Amino acid sequence: MITDIIRENLSLIAISSMSYRIGFGIDFHQLVEGRELWLGGVKIPHDKGALGHSDADVLLHAICDALLGALSLGDIGLHFPDTDSAYKNIDSKILLRKTYQLIKEKNYRVVNIDSAVCLEVPKIKKYSEEMRQIIATTLEVSTDDISIKATTTEKMGFVGREEGLVAYATVLLEKF
Ligand SMILES: [Zn+2]
Repeated sequence: MITDIIRENLSLIAISSMSYRIGFGIDFHQLVEGRELWLGGVKIPHDKGALGHSDADVLLHAICDALLGALSLGDIGLHFPDTDSAYKNIDSKILLRKTYQLIKEKNYRVVNIDSAVCLEVPKIKKYSEEMRQIIATTLEVSTDDISIKATTTEKMGFVGREEGLVAYATVLLEKF
């Protein structure tokens, strides 16, 4: 009985002293002609763009989902539903800013983000510094805290056929 009470109290202490949270996000969009290609808040010149209700920025969406996931706040579809006309063609930088606001309201800050974009073409390396700058500024961290990697799928699957693209993101949050 007493050991049960001690164990319960110890677990409460452990929970209250938890100051770090990890989050994971993933997002997919189709690539179609007649749409702009936005990635990490940057417009990339390309003959195809991502299809979606918003500007379909797959990287910013994955980061939003990772931020929300870290605090078990649901996902981007819950907070910014694609049935809401307010979000039609919205700049995803606004969604990232709104998501970060939710994180701050819970007294958390971003420690770092690691991310990867999978697409066959075009090469996005030359845009990655600008993307890191935009994301870092929005989330009030240094560009050193934002990692953006890119890979193809070696021509395999829907990414390889240039039918779509995927982004993955992990984030570490710290309580302040
Ligand atoms: Zn998306």
